[in-house]
Amino acid sequence: MSEKNQRKSPESLIHPLGDLRSLYSRVENFHGHRCPGSAYGLRVAIAGLSHAGNHPEDLLKVHSRTRMCAIDAIQVLTGCTVGNGQLVIRDTSEHEFIFWNETNASGCKIRVRKVLFEDTKEEIEAMKRFGTGDRSLAVCQLVDQRREKRIDGILSLPESEILEIESLENPPGS
Ligand SMILES: [Zn+2]
Repeated sequence: MSEKNQRKSPESLIHPLGDLRSLYSRVENFHGHRCPGSAYGLRVAIAGLSHAGNHPEDLLKVHSRTRMCAIDAIQVLTGCTVGNGQLVIRDTSEHEFIFWNETNASGCKIRVRKVLFEDTKEEIEAMKRFGTGDRSLAVCQLVDQRREKRIDGILSLPESEILEIESLENPPGS
């Protein structure tokens, strides 16, 4: 089996949709911690695979405009890595990703939409205290709760609320 064949087909990633949380465990294991950025990356990876096509023999390339945590999710779920040259990062601090399928010359541009999460007064206060070095149990629990709320939201919102997806007819850079 070639290395490319180890990449999951989009069907196995997308169905069942309720399996996003178990996919997120794979991302978390690879990335080393739980964070909203890697959860966004999971949504980007799934959208990119389904829109750009993902036949195991296809050569997929991902161009990322950020170095944020999201790229670890993309690496672990698409098999496109910095090491194999299928993930190219040009950091312009934009939350934008281009998936380009070189085999069938099709692709898409994905922008991450800013999702607003409401924090409770307690969470806001805890974040301030955390920022000044307070690592008490009460503060850490609220900081964790705030983070988990975001991850949960990112994994459960409809794709259109999280991502803006545009089809591309020409390879990136042309
Ligand atoms: Zn992270």
